[in-house]
Amino acid sequence: MVICQINADPSFDSNIYLIIGGRTALIDTGTGGANPENIAGIKKILKGKNLDMIILTHFHYDHTGGLSGMLKEFDSEVSAGAGDAPYIMGGDPIYTMSGMFGGEHEPVDVIGLTEDDIVDLGDHRLRVINTPGHTCGGICLYDEITHSLFSGDTVFSRGVGRTDFPTGSAKELTESLRKLSGIDVKMLYPGHSDISSDGNEAVRYGLLMMGGL
Ligand SMILES: [Zn+2]
Repeated sequence: MVICQINADPSFDSNIYLIIGGRTALIDTGTGGANPENIAGIKKILKGKNLDMIILTHFHYDHTGGLSGMLKEFDSEVSAGAGDAPYIMGGDPIYTMSGMFGGEHEPVDVIGLTEDDIVDLGDHRLRVINTPGHTCGGICLYDEITHSLFSGDTVFSRGVGRTDFPTGSAKELTESLRKLSGIDVKMLYPGHSDISSDGNEAVRYGLLMMGGL
C-alpha cells in the first residue's frame, strides 16, 4: 500500500490522500478549488488506472467540495459515514458549510459506512471506526497491518477538531478519542496539518486537551 498526499492548495483544502493498493482510493477531496491541479497529480500517479473509490471522512466542504469535479474524471464509488452521507448527498449548504466556502454540492450517491465495515483495497483493508464529535457521522479509517489511521478532523498531530459546528459535540469527541486510544496507532494521517509518526501520542494529547485523561 502506497500513500501519497495530493495537496495543491493546503490553505483551504483538507489533506487529500491517494492510496494505491490492489485497488485505489482517495480519502477526502478538498474544496475543489484546486481540482485541476489535484486531478492532474492523481492521474500522474495512477498512470491510467482508475480511481476506484473516494471515501469522505465527514461532510464539511473543505473535505467534500472537490467530489463532483473528481467524479467527472474518475469512475469512483463514493462512501462516507452513514450519519454524514445524507448531508453530502443532499448538498446541505449549512451543515456542509458549502455556502461559507462559496460553493455547492451537486447531488451524488454516497454509500453510508458503519462501524467495523471494511474497505477492501486488495492487499490492505481499512476498518471503519465511527468517531462522532466533530460531525455526527465522522469516521476514521484504520489499517491493521501498518497501524495507520486516517483521522479526518477528529484528531490532528497536535490537537483535535472543533466541536462548535452543526452536529458537533465535545462529549462525543471525547468518547471517540477514548475509543481511538484503545487501538495502536503508528502513522496518523489527519485531515489537516502534518502527518505524525506517533499516532498514539497524538490521540493521547487530543484526549488530554478534551479533559478526557
Ligand atoms: Zn471538518
